[in-house]
Amino acid sequence: MSLFRKILRTGRVTERAEPATGAELMLAGGRLRGSVQVRAVDVGSCNGCELELASTFGPVYDAERFGVRLVASPRHADVLCVTGPVTHNMVTPLVKTYEAAASPKLVVAVGDCARNCGVFTGGYGVAGAVSDFVPVDFEIAGCPPHPDDLLRGLRRLTGR
Ligand code: SF4
Repeated sequence: MSLFRKILRTGRVTERAEPATGAELMLAGGRLRGSVQVRAVDVGSCNGCELELASTFGPVYDAERFGVRLVASPRHADVLCVTGPVTHNMVTPLVKTYEAAASPKLVVAVGDCARNCGVFTGGYGVAGAVSDFVPVDFEIAGCPPHPDDLLRGLRRLTGR
C-alpha cells in the first residue's frame, strides 16, 4: 500500500478534544489568551514529566491545535512549565530563566515534584519546590501527570 493511501485510510488519529472549560486564567498584568508560547524548564526531574509533556505536544494530543506552542528560549515565552524538584544546581538557572521571560508571564508547576518535591522530598540534592524560588500561578498534579491532564491545564492558558 502506498504511503499516501495509508494516510487516507488512517485518517485523523488525534484524541478527541473535550469542550473548552471556559476557565481561562486571569493575570494581574493582563490576559494570556488565544495563543501562548511555552518554555519547558527541567530543574531536576527524572524525565518522566518531560516524556508526558512531549506526548502532549505530539501528534496524538496535539496541544498546538489549542494555540499552545513550545519555544526554545524564555525570551520568547509567556509561560514557563517547570518540571522536577529544584536541585541545588538549578536554583540560579530557574531564577534567571524566570527573570528572562517578559511580563505578563505565568509559571506552571508540572508534576508532584515541582509542586512539593514529590518522591524526592528530603533528598540531599534537593533545594525545594518551585514555589520556594519563583511565584507559581497554577499546578498540574500527577507523577507523572497524564497528557489529558496536561492538555486540560494548558488549555486554561489559551481559553480554547
Ligand atoms: S513527578 Fe514523578 S515523573 Fe515527574 S519528575 Fe517527579 S518523579 Fe519524575
